Amino acid sequence: SASLLEVNDLEMHFPLGRGLFGGVRRFVYAVDGLSFRVERGETLSIVGESGCGKSTVGRAVLRLLKPTAGQVVLGGVRIDDMSSGALRPMRRRIQVVFQDPFSSLNPRIRVRDALAEPMNNFGLAKSRAERDRKLNALMDKVGLPREALGRWPHEFSGGQRQRIGIARALAAEPDIIVCDEAVSALDVSVKAQIVNLLGDLQQELGLALLFISHDLAIVEHMTHRVAVMYLGKIVEIGTKRQIFARPRHPYTETLLSAVPVPDPDAPRRRIILKGDVPSPINPPRGCRFHTRCPYAFDRCRTEEPRLREVERGHEAACHLNDRPAEDNPLLSGARA
Ligand code: SF4
Ligand code: MG
Repeated sequence: SASLLEVNDLEMHFPLGRGLFGGVRRFVYAVDGLSFRVERGETLSIVGESGCGKSTVGRAVLRLLKPTAGQVVLGGVRIDDMSSGALRPMRRRIQVVFQDPFSSLNPRIRVRDALAEPMNNFGLAKSRAERDRKLNALMDKVGLPREALGRWPHEFSGGQRQRIGIARALAAEPDIIVCDEAVSALDVSVKAQIVNLLGDLQQELGLALLFISHDLAIVEHMTHRVAVMYLGKIVEIGTKRQIFARPRHPYTETLLSAVPVPDPDAPRRRIILKGDVPSPINPPRGCRFHTRCPYAFDRCRTEEPRLREVERGHEAACHLNDRPAEDNPLLSGARA
């Protein structure tokens, strides 16, 4: 197929020490059978509470972690089982922006050298003049003055640092950037600026983004599609419009209830979930969400719902969608 990134039946299980469980091998099922695709030039957002496994998905597609099972296919090439040598040229194509760019920027290396490094590693500039031209263009793209190239990482504010992190990702001329909570640590106004910048760059460069966030409100302005994760699984995936206007999973409905709506005459009913996210060491049987779901019924405690299409391009994993519309509370007017 022609998708830029394909993830098929991805599993990421981390072994725990035997001592804790009387000699029995136990695993954390951080990601437990998950599939999605990202097309060229598209933004797919993965949202969910902390601990749902979304960052682990990011690390698997970046091949910072090796999957336990399943496939990661980038540009038609399987990278999940590649050796590190074979991976090297593939790494140019998929870059990352983390929450704190300073964990990836060396404080003793000037911005110029930090950005030139990927160009040198991947042979992207044939001369010093070409490299300098590309460095200046990167500063223009991310909205920093060119003189910033001569400065040190610590001289910049949080938002500026994140612009440098984005410039460093762009320096590799990638097809896709994984943004893992890339704006979560920033002040509200700066957050909006960086989200807008990412959206602009995505359009201008035809980049794909895999945007990992705990915050649905943040993704609303720039994403094309949304995947909602709960306890290691995708529970719903669809276009932005489908997810925001017609959610078909109670967990999505809950996350949306916390998103402010611009129209004060149409407030969303705020749904507060009971309890914490259950442990991925021993996830609940049946539907993993049943311990917190306001609509749970008998079947939910025994039978795991499968992700299935509820409308074109929109999939959800909830037994309620097997009911006729008039008996499905997700389709009733209960949601304001
Ligand atoms: Fe809630 Fe049952 Fe749907 Fe799970 S399957 S989300 S418990 S109604
Ligand atoms: Mg995380």
